[in-house]
Amino acid sequence: MTPRPTVPDSREGRGVTAGDERTLLAVLSHPDDETFGTGGTLALYASRGVDVHLLCATRGELGTVAPELLEGHSSVGDLRVKELECAAGHLGLAGVHFLGYRDSGMAGSPDNRHPQALAAAPLDEVAARIVSWIRRLRPQVVITFDPIGGYHHPDHIACHNATVMAFEAAGDPARYPDGLATHRPEKLYYITFHRPWLRQGIRLLRLFGRDPRRWGRNRDIDLVQIAQSEFPVHARINIRPVADRKQRASDCHASQQMPRQGLVGRWLMRLSDAEEVYMRAHPGAAPGLHERDLFEGVGPRPPR
Ligand SMILES: [Zn+2]
Repeated sequence: MTPRPTVPDSREGRGVTAGDERTLLAVLSHPDDETFGTGGTLALYASRGVDVHLLCATRGELGTVAPELLEGHSSVGDLRVKELECAAGHLGLAGVHFLGYRDSGMAGSPDNRHPQALAAAPLDEVAARIVSWIRRLRPQVVITFDPIGGYHHPDHIACHNATVMAFEAAGDPARYPDGLATHRPEKLYYITFHRPWLRQGIRLLRLFGRDPRRWGRNRDIDLVQIAQSEFPVHARINIRPVADRKQRASDCHASQQMPRQGLVGRWLMRLSDAEEVYMRAHPGAAPGLHERDLFEGVGPRPPR
């Protein structure tokens, strides 16, 4: 991994807390989730001196990949781990850790039931692995998917459920005892999409004769169904100061590029290049909460 880059404090980045032993943990499912969903946030905090760690539950073994990209790699999983290592260098991650499950594929695929599939693993077992990483890394802030896994991906939903359970349990010595000191992170956030943008995107896609129920590189994302679930936005992170890093990390994931072609695609992507948005799950948020910094109100880390 390349050394962590630093960027000078810029006008746009002001308001985001600086390092001093702060740790941010993202618990996600596949190589590329860290970049396409949260890349700006991870890069921004890393550039401010925060230790940013990623738990990646699978190696993305089932991603569709153009055959020429597989040259020199033993498998799709191998290629995607290399892409993740490349992206992690540009984002400035302090560590990437795998939970050791297998990609479950999209909802309804027979791979959902593979014995190593994340979606088939007992919730308790996945949570125990995450608890152990929370106790080792001692993050103040944890990020994961929203309850529908962003777009109903079974691995994202499994990751959400296990992380919520682990967040509650990691501070309780009676649960999952593993010889490590317990640690209760202070804040839990869910990555989400800004619903008004999404609904506007759906309107525009229809206007241009595109089917919003068949979106994405594999045409397997149903934007209409996603827009039916409402998740409030409590934190909006301005990622413009690190837009170039997110772009370089994104370039690393050559096998998983999202289509930018088409006016609507470009419009939606441009919005997500400027800002990443989150729902705050813990502590509970009052209506209208509007944070600009995920570490807002976070105190010093308690001693071990
Ligand atoms: Zn994913």
